[in-house]
Amino acid sequence: AKAAPAERVCFYEARMDEVSRQRRALATDLWHAVENGELSLAYQVQKSVVDGRVTGYEVLLRWDHPRRGRISPAEFIPIAEECGAIVPIGAWVLREACAEAARWDGGERIAVNLSPLQLGHVDLVREVHETLLVTGLAPARLELEITETAIIADKERALHILRQIKALGITIAIDDFGTGYSSLDTLRSFPFDKIKLDRSFMNDIDSNPQSKAIIRAILALGRSLEVPVLAEGVETDDQLQMLTVEGCDEVQGFLLGRPEPIQTGLLGLRAAAAG
Ligand code: C2E
Ligand code: CA
Ligand code: CA
Ligand code: CA
Repeated sequence: AKAAPAERVCFYEARMDEVSRQRRALATDLWHAVENGELSLAYQVQKSVVDGRVTGYEVLLRWDHPRRGRISPAEFIPIAEECGAIVPIGAWVLREACAEAARWDGGERIAVNLSPLQLGHVDLVREVHETLLVTGLAPARLELEITETAIIADKERALHILRQIKALGITIAIDDFGTGYSSLDTLRSFPFDKIKLDRSFMNDIDSNPQSKAIIRAILALGRSLEVPVLAEGVETDDQLQMLTVEGCDEVQGFLLGRPEPIQTGLLGLRAAAAG
């Protein structure tokens, strides 16, 4: 027999309670994750299409929860943003990544994700500047990745902060490009150094002719604005081939390399080989 409407509502509410209870528990745990040493970083290689040279590494946050095990950033970043813990966590990511990169001989660039909440935080510019001074990382080796949602909230303010960051010699990439609703307007008014083409376009490149057309259009846009385009989520040789033919500048994805922790990853092996 079907449940009476009232019972169904109760069931639904109980489930929602459980979900929000879990989120609240995770939010509490997140505030202690840094001090408990539960967070770590993975690095994913970015390469030039023309010569296959390594151009940099994107820094991706990992959380090993003491009871739940590894939790995906897709799950915990939104919670960290909702409860505000992303501000101290983001500061930790920046410090760790800059300190790490400062030790590399090759001088590769690191690309660090910046949450909209960090962009809205009063101390961001001072924090970034101090981190560079303390770690000794050359500003040109730091790239910050921001999404359009970060900008749309308060355009004037975002523009003001991004200009100050650029004045330090840091570059800025627009992340997940093509998924926001005001992409073209954002490109017109913001001083970006790189466009990161969202990986959703890569998924159905073969089955959906529209995706390929959009990729082409964005690459053409990058060329005419003289802003390099990096394609994310490149998984197959066919995708890389298409991007090469169409004149994409840089690529990132499982085909080129998975995100790896520094100890066991490519960097570690290379450092070991060199030392
Ligand atoms: P994102 O910035 O778009 O990062 C790229 C995501 O795509 C990463 O997921 C990466 O592991 C995944 N990826 C890379 N290559 C491929 C591929 O070829 N195929 C597929 N299917 N996926 C690929 P990850 O590490 O799970 O991170 C998810 C999101 O969490 C990131 O998306 C970013 O928005 C956020 N995030 C991660 N670390 C940080 C951080 O330190 N700070 C902030 N604010 N956000 C972060
Ligand atoms: Ca990113
Ligand atoms: Ca992205
Ligand atoms: Ca994304």
